[in-house]
Amino acid sequence: MKDVLSELKAGIRQFRTEVYPAQAEVYRKAESEPQRPAAMIVTCADSRIDPELITQSGTGELFVTRNIGNLVPAYGEMMGGVSAVVEYAVSALKVKHIVVCGHSDCGAMKALLNQESLESMGTVKRWMRNAEAALSVADSLSEPDEKPSTRLRRLTEENVLLQVQHLRTHPSVAGAIAREELSLSGWVYDIGTGEVRISENGERVFRAVTLEGKAG
Ligand SMILES: [Zn+2]
Repeated sequence: MKDVLSELKAGIRQFRTEVYPAQAEVYRKAESEPQRPAAMIVTCADSRIDPELITQSGTGELFVTRNIGNLVPAYGEMMGGVSAVVEYAVSALKVKHIVVCGHSDCGAMKALLNQESLESMGTVKRWMRNAEAALSVADSLSEPDEKPSTRLRRLTEENVLLQVQHLRTHPSVAGAIAREELSLSGWVYDIGTGEVRISENGERVFRAVTLEGKAG
């Protein structure tokens, strides 16, 4: 069996000897000032997603929260970690933008489509109830003889849109949006191609970020 902790320690050594020295000033400065991230991202716990890497964000720039299926329970539904982190990000850190980022090949979305797979995981099953409305929307929009990959993609998008809606039910978020101090967007990240598609300004459609890169 591979010694996983030894591998992690080797990574720490490499960070300390190769990465940190080149960035020492950045890290010292980051520690000497309060964090001021402009954006928060809610994404899946899936180990294949690197939010900082895909947005090329540096230390202190992105406030990240991750869970199974990138879910945000509607306010009052489940007062727990996600609600607290949203309130903290908006009220204390005053982030200007919140992203809900889903992804291709998401195990949580696949489990929603095959709920028997959750029978032995009661906690995950309960948690996934926060995505149930996305399943009924995806089902009601589905075409006859829809390919499984199309169904999964549709559900993944509907789930992101639903979680953006849930975000709006949080009082801190609703207030900041009303004051025009906060905006929201929904993303789907394709692990295999690196493409990110975004639904913004409350639209239901997801558009790929073009490589030509004008601002906005
Ligand atoms: Zn996932």
